[in-house]
Amino acid sequence: MNIPYLSFDKINADVKEELTPAFEKFIASNWYVLGESVSAFEQAYANFNRVEHCVGVANGLDALVIALRTLNIGPGDEVIVPSNTYIASWLAVSYVGATPVPVEPREDTYNINPDLIGEKITERTKAIMPVHLYGQSCEMNAIMAMAKNHGLFVVEDNAQAQGASFDGKFTGSFGDINGTSFYPGKNLGAYGDAGAITTNDHKLANRAKTLRNYGSQKKYYNEEKGINSRLDELQAALLSIKLKHLHAWNKERVALAALYHEQLAGIGDLILPKTIGEATHVYHIYVVRTTRRDELQEFLQRRGVGTLIHYPLPPHLQAAYAELEYKKGQFPIAEEIANTCLSLPLYPGLSTTSLGKVAEIIKEFYHA
Ligand SMILES: *Cc1c(COP(=O)(O)O)cnc(C)c1O
Repeated sequence: MNIPYLSFDKINADVKEELTPAFEKFIASNWYVLGESVSAFEQAYANFNRVEHCVGVANGLDALVIALRTLNIGPGDEVIVPSNTYIASWLAVSYVGATPVPVEPREDTYNINPDLIGEKITERTKAIMPVHLYGQSCEMNAIMAMAKNHGLFVVEDNAQAQGASFDGKFTGSFGDINGTSFYPGKNLGAYGDAGAITTNDHKLANRAKTLRNYGSQKKYYNEEKGINSRLDELQAALLSIKLKHLHAWNKERVALAALYHEQLAGIGDLILPKTIGEATHVYHIYVVRTTRRDELQEFLQRRGVGTLIHYPLPPHLQAAYAELEYKKGQFPIAEEIANTCLSLPLYPGLSTTSLGKVAEIIKEFYHA
């Protein structure tokens, strides 16, 4: 039996009937960039996320870059980021010319530890970028209070947590301006690259719209040096169809995660994901930890179970960030997570039989 790490079969089956007519309508529209489908998706996603404005862009990295640019964050500025995140969060800060300042996560939630942010704030700090890692909301009340006290902006990286919430409020609706990604594997995934910015501030939304389209509002008149980072009409049309299923798909992910919790509790040295009281988790990724990670991954692989590692090397140890001169051991929690984490198969359509099989193979590994 082969159990892939990820499969889109069920998601595709759920939307299949609507995709083909949408594609035909798109072709016949004679309008392929920044049209009605993008506006309709932006409105729908803003409603979903309970924010005033959504601006569609080409991918999640651009969403974060443009978000930072709307706040005039640039050279000489510092932005607080988690030490354990996908490198895109750091790259966005670097691309605007600012410096990412890493803060360690909590050891049990893997999300940035608000208690450690204060000591990293300097007179250059302009913003905090919380990343709702693996699908669980960060401790947003503490982070927002910290930002308010120090006069900092908050830019959420909501690429992994569409539909998650803290204290009843959706991630992607706390920060001044926030970015998300619709990379195919994300909880809401496009058929290619796509991303979006969310904000309640209409001035920031307008600036983002200008920046994504060459810095232009009126065709051939450029107010500033923008980029080309537009959301495709086609992707927007397909995303609108998928968005209607997102809550149901997230619910299925949560139910599958509960089954893993049940079946993997108390096995060997396995550490299971922990969700804190006020947060919800939409399980973009179901991450377990073990000191025998590489062995376990190989064992599962030999039995046909696909797994991944999110992420094997933290940004501060990447060659790309050699210039910051961080050493091994400087962010021990991020390094520990990188050395011990393993992502198990979890997606809408994963059968409970397959999930049970994964759990059984893991038990077998520890009993061998
Ligand atoms: C996927 C992801 C991004 C970047 O999104 P792209 O669409 O791939 O550019 C940014 N941050 C995090 C945490 C992500 O998981």
